[in-house]
Amino acid sequence: MSNKTPITIARGDGIGPEIMQATLDIILGAGAQLDIEEIEIGEQLYLKGLNTGIEPSAWDSLRRTKIFLKAPITTPQGGGYKSLNVTARKVLGLYANVRPCVSYHPYVATKHPVMDLVIVRENEEDLYAGIEHRQTNQVYQALKIISRPGSEKIIRYAFEYARTNGRKKVTCFMKDNIMKLTDGLFHKVFDEIRAEYPNIESDHWIVDIGAAKMADTPENFDVIVMPNLYGDILSDVAAQIAGSVGLAGSANIGESASMFEAIHGSAPRRANQNLANPSGLLLGSVMMLVHIGQPDVAAKVHNAWLRTLEDGVHTYDIYKEGVSKEKVGTKQFAEAVIKRIGQNPQILKTADYSKATEKMKLGVTPKSSYKAKKELMGVDIFLDYSGADPQKAGSDIAKLSSGNLSLSIVENKGVKVYPEAQPISSYTDFWRCRFLTTDSKPCSYSQVHEVMGKISAAGYDVVKSENLSTFDGEAGYSGLHG
Ligand code: NAD
Repeated sequence: MSNKTPITIARGDGIGPEIMQATLDIILGAGAQLDIEEIEIGEQLYLKGLNTGIEPSAWDSLRRTKIFLKAPITTPQGGGYKSLNVTARKVLGLYANVRPCVSYHPYVATKHPVMDLVIVRENEEDLYAGIEHRQTNQVYQALKIISRPGSEKIIRYAFEYARTNGRKKVTCFMKDNIMKLTDGLFHKVFDEIRAEYPNIESDHWIVDIGAAKMADTPENFDVIVMPNLYGDILSDVAAQIAGSVGLAGSANIGESASMFEAIHGSAPRRANQNLANPSGLLLGSVMMLVHIGQPDVAAKVHNAWLRTLEDGVHTYDIYKEGVSKEKVGTKQFAEAVIKRIGQNPQILKTADYSKATEKMKLGVTPKSSYKAKKELMGVDIFLDYSGADPQKAGSDIAKLSSGNLSLSIVENKGVKVYPEAQPISSYTDFWRCRFLTTDSKPCSYSQVHEVMGKISAAGYDVVKSENLSTFDGEAGYSGLHG
């Protein structure tokens, strides 16, 4: 049996084919054992009318090899084209996006000479579930979905990444002072999992101040784990302030498949001129080699590349008079790296993947399948109402009840307006009527239905409802501000 690992590659668009060739030349030159299958993705397929940018048959190769090294593609101008990255993430279940953000002072200009952090971003949940609705004339909503298994998977991945990559600390960013249930769950799971890793330092920050600290003193961070939206934004910030967006690689990891790439795009204006810097895709391929169990080859490639940077052999994008020694094209850069295979950097930190031979212990805890006792205690009923007298509407609706289920309060923009109105400068046409049971006993869903029916029959426009349940006695819904 061959000891080669099957992988699927796509050469992509623009500078893609050139940087892919350079990357393959370097990693194969360093001894990577790969059985390479090639698929076509990108602009030509979009233009042929495939709105996903990939041939349906290409998924067969990806499902077979489970490892995808992907060059950037060009998304044609105009609407209707789906992001291939989003599709791949969903089809292959790529739950973790891992982005090392490293500065290479003094060889690449940066404001942060000692920056070396890794962002681990949750990739499937949060506002990216894409569940959006227009509720009223004035109000649109997006649902933020955070699950316990999703949080456990990504947070455990961050700690296992730290353990197998010799990283010392894992930091969590979230905003549970405001989103007490969703970000609150992420924080709670972080606290549970960190307790399993006493040898790894850990801390957490509210995302706003955390982001400010990361941008100001990135040297104080090591691995940072975040829900999807914060991770999307802050991984770009981190890559940018490292001074080297063009040098960053990225991994998208799933339980059964993974995808590796550069974070930059296809730079069409630089294509076919032997100009592009292949470093982003090369560092993506280094992450791939670690992932498929060839960490020694990964280290050889990474260190030869660091040495090439140190020796001042630079492509145009990082070339700087006085620092750089030789301006080279894509091919010559690849040759320079290949020439240095076996050498280590002298000033920059040597890449060491020796710990990566330890297998990651991933998965979720039994808590994820635990079923709490769920009891229905009320309902939030949302109305599209632009009438002149919310107080009167409130007192009308207060007369509509079903058994032990009655109106507790009415609110607008999170502030109570009935029974006693709090001062509020302006209303929207999106009203929430909170019905709760009056005897602390549960109610039935048919009572909820009956109340909604009565409100509708009274002439109010019911746009949606959210059940208010307790789980083992704990409220599964937020309180009100006002
Ligand atoms: P881009 O990252 O392709 O290029 C921005 C600029 O950065 C370019 O003008 C170029 O000068 C420079 N640059 C980027 N990578 C470089 C490299 N390896 N070597 C040297 N210089 C480099 O971003 P863009 O111009 O906004 O997007 C171009 C196309 O890429 C678009 O169609 C976009 O949709 C697509 N894109 C694809 C991916 C992906 O496939 N993962 C990611 C981002 C953008």
